[in-house]
Amino acid sequence: MAERITGHTELIGLMAYPIRHSSSPAMHNEAFATLGLDYAYLAFEVDNDTLEDAIKGLRALKMVGSNVSMPNKTVVGQYLDELSPAAEMAGAVNTIVNDHGKLIGHITDGIGYMQSLKDNDIDVIGKKMTIAGAGGAATAIEIQAALDGVKEMSIFNIKDKFWENAERTVEKIRANTDCIVNLYDLDDKEKLREEIEDSYLFAQATGVGMKPMEGQSVVPDKSFFRPDLIVTDTIYAPRETALLKMAKEAGCKTMNGLGMMLFQGDAAFHLWTGKHMPIDHMKEVLD
Ligand code: NAD
Repeated sequence: MAERITGHTELIGLMAYPIRHSSSPAMHNEAFATLGLDYAYLAFEVDNDTLEDAIKGLRALKMVGSNVSMPNKTVVGQYLDELSPAAEMAGAVNTIVNDHGKLIGHITDGIGYMQSLKDNDIDVIGKKMTIAGAGGAATAIEIQAALDGVKEMSIFNIKDKFWENAERTVEKIRANTDCIVNLYDLDDKEKLREEIEDSYLFAQATGVGMKPMEGQSVVPDKSFFRPDLIVTDTIYAPRETALLKMAKEAGCKTMNGLGMMLFQGDAAFHLWTGKHMPIDHMKEVLD
């Protein structure tokens, strides 16, 4: 008889809609199989209408936990018992841990980004960064970077529906950390130039650069960059955005979003299993 799934196998879920395209099930199950851990990770089509029942199901089935993605990240907190400080500040949860019946919500996207910097020998702690974005990915990075000890952060966003969220993020960072944080209009390109100029790192965390905005960049041209600036993008499809191509041409060290994706998964994996993913193996599989 096949031994992969037995009566002892523990279940971890992913609750989102749509979700069939996700690479998370393959990533986590590959890591369980490689390490010989008796867990299975399955994707469930859950939207806001079925989320409360799904969380009740997680409790009733004594599941180890779950990932949560859109459209549930900002909604699921109300059904949980406790939130991590970063999840509380970000107002979003992407990982649920079932701690003996107590459901704790975490957000691991920002942890994933910070870990991917470390993995590339980039140390932004105590330094200044400039970041574009005020959506889910950007907010998680901004909060985690401030909690981890980035000294100064200049946030840029266009004045769209995410602007108010950026204002809230700035307030929360000011209230809870020592990070000096300011918010500017991304359409003010001269201000953007000025803030990048004395930054150690520039992080792109908007959707500009991937479909349907592939080929576009929030930074107009490579004169905004200098060789000792580090430039990162949360996007991983394509692997090299127009922005990263421009930064490479200017001589900058660059990093795409693949590491953030891997390490947000690893942080969740660690919360559930107490073990880290086999990172080198996962990099080979994901590339
Ligand atoms: P979101 O919808 O929550 O936020 C979208 C952001 O893009 C906002 O800041 C918005 O103002 C900005 N934006 C949209 N159109 C714009 C335009 N024309 N000009 C300038 N800014 C514009 O999205 P999200 O979930 O935060 O995702 C943002 C990017 O990060 C996506 O490309 C996504 O693929 C990537 N991402 C990567 C990871 C990872 O693990 N590497 C995780 C999450 C998201």
